[in-house]
Amino acid sequence: MRRLALLAALALSRLAHADPLPAHAAGVADYSIRVRLDVRAKTLAGAEHVTWRNPASEPVAELWFHLYLNAFKNSESTFFRESGGQLRGDRMPDEGWGFVDVKSLRTKDGVDLAPAGRFEQPDDGNTSDRTVWRVPLPAPVPPGGTLEFDLEWNAQLPRVFARTGYFRDYFLVGQWFPKLAVYEPEGLRGRSLGGWNCHQFHANSEFYADFGRYHVEITLPKDYVVGATGSRSARRENPDGTATHVFERSDVIDFAWTASPHFVEVRQRFSGQNDVSEQEYAETAALLGRSRGEVQLSDVDIILLLQPEHLAQRERHLRAAKAAIKWFGLWYGRYPYPAITIVDPAFGAGGSGGMEYPTFITAGTSVLLNQWPLEGVLAPEEVVIHEFGHQYWQSMVATNEFEESWLDEGFNSYSTGRVREKVYGPWLIQALGLRLGGIELSRMQNSVERMFDKIRTPAWEYSSSSNYGFNSYARTELTLRTLEALLGPETLARAMRTYHERYRFRHPSSDDFYAVVSEVAGRDLSGFFAQTTERPGILDDEVSSVASDEAAEPQGVFGEGDKRKIVTKGEATAKEKQAAGRRPWHTTVMVRRRGEVVLPTSLRLDYEGGASQTLPLLEAVPAKGAVEGTPLASGATTAGEPWRGRFKRIELTGPHRLVSATIDPDDRLLIDVNRLNNSRRAEPDPRAANRLGTRLVFWLQQLVALAGL
Ligand SMILES: [Zn+2]
Repeated sequence: MRRLALLAALALSRLAHADPLPAHAAGVADYSIRVRLDVRAKTLAGAEHVTWRNPASEPVAELWFHLYLNAFKNSESTFFRESGGQLRGDRMPDEGWGFVDVKSLRTKDGVDLAPAGRFEQPDDGNTSDRTVWRVPLPAPVPPGGTLEFDLEWNAQLPRVFARTGYFRDYFLVGQWFPKLAVYEPEGLRGRSLGGWNCHQFHANSEFYADFGRYHVEITLPKDYVVGATGSRSARRENPDGTATHVFERSDVIDFAWTASPHFVEVRQRFSGQNDVSEQEYAETAALLGRSRGEVQLSDVDIILLLQPEHLAQRERHLRAAKAAIKWFGLWYGRYPYPAITIVDPAFGAGGSGGMEYPTFITAGTSVLLNQWPLEGVLAPEEVVIHEFGHQYWQSMVATNEFEESWLDEGFNSYSTGRVREKVYGPWLIQALGLRLGGIELSRMQNSVERMFDKIRTPAWEYSSSSNYGFNSYARTELTLRTLEALLGPETLARAMRTYHERYRFRHPSSDDFYAVVSEVAGRDLSGFFAQTTERPGILDDEVSSVASDEAAEPQGVFGEGDKRKIVTKGEATAKEKQAAGRRPWHTTVMVRRRGEVVLPTSLRLDYEGGASQTLPLLEAVPAKGAVEGTPLASGATTAGEPWRGRFKRIELTGPHRLVSATIDPDDRLLIDVNRLNNSRRAEPDPRAANRLGTRLVFWLQQLVALAGL
């Protein structure tokens, strides 16, 4: 019934709107910024005019800002304390602090509100942290009302080590201007009361902001090549030897830019006509159950700003960018902006690589990847596809990266892997005879050590930096692949498409995603998420023992009265043997759950002579109520009942001797932390080499977990 009603509603909405992809965001915060870069002092002087619309149904009497360059102000910032001055393998240089100072904040009537502003520390109470700034307003902004104000500020850029800053004459300017936080109205992301959502700058977190229109004028020496969010609408030269570059973009949540005199600018156009075959359009439309028109892609200008020493990798970058524009567009909905800018960071500024901003991403490569033996390592491709993917998961579907990082990094890891496999095949790394796929790399990071965190956790509250990374990226990827295997690829593809369409230019939460998946699958899947993302624990199903013996021969007293007869051992069965040609075998298999996650699985039994059979152990995902808060019951489940407890003994009698038993034989549960124990043979395995290989993978898993990769 529910499904029918839904289908009817969908059909009706399809009639009303031929294209379910929204064309524009409901703009909340518009910025017009003039900024001047002093390339010697590494400072910015900024003036910014902001228009903010109150999206809520209540008046709002204060503004909250991100002043994120203050994360680099001194050793007492929350970012510095959490990171210890290093991030993603890069160290904070000894000199290279950065900060931002707001000089004034004036409303239309000229009153300066800045002196009343206060720094807040909503996450950790660290009063030395200066990354969140709250400004009370003299009069509240009414529901739906608009407030305009002007800010003047100065900033010192940090030396690049964590995403933003300078290195010599290279600049990657992100999180650089005073930016409004997100005012979340009641109901948004499950809020019971409207309010500002504003977090401090953390080591293990990215960002959250609202949609709006940006007009940014950047002035700097005229020999600098500049790239930025949006498209350049003008460039004018000034009498003082500088040039002013004007960039504009609407429907975006942030703005970043780069400048260097050394960039080699390469341009190429992705064509919705020529870069996608008619067959690929048709296959995508069929996969998603959409019309041909709905999956049509538009043209996109690719602006690649390469370091001169990486020119040999020009085509590799462009091919990856086109692949990403194509497959993200086909699967989730066309890329709506006219351009994407890809920045290749300067040598020494690797900390600014691999980062995403709207229509503007940073890649990352090395001259070592120009040639043998490392040309088969798809690192630059992976970074370009991944960072482009953030246009979908986080930029357009603008999730809160502080509180639900899995919705951006994890969704993007899943999508990146799918695009890479589609275009480049299964191997992420091929070098010197070694081959490794992306999904193997993700699985190698999984282990029993991962039982302590749950996926849906605020980014700064994971037990360790390694667990922030594992849960936000690899574990989410493995979880979505597991879900895909349980639902079928078509159902998950349709759910992801629907989720993207419905929340493009909006701010969904995890619960919104759960609801879409259940809706598209036509069944309640909250029990899946309750176990895999909402609580800690691991999945580790195993075959713990296997025995297959000749059934004991009947002996003793049989029959009544005159027919009573004593059968001694061997006597009756000898006759049976003659009649049947062979004797029956008695097989016992014990399966156990070493983890807490209970998902549908089956057991394959392989017999001598080549026969095999597959027994379902559990066919449906348990309901949320059946798993929430309840520890896994100990004890066996009775034969024939779905397997929900810790262990189950399976006993069978048949004509053949069992050779081996394998749980999850199709390898659908990719979140299983240990595949080594999924299969067991009834006698010592003569193919020892094979087992040795599996054991090697197991030890590799442990090593990777120890190294915290
Ligand atoms: Zn990412």
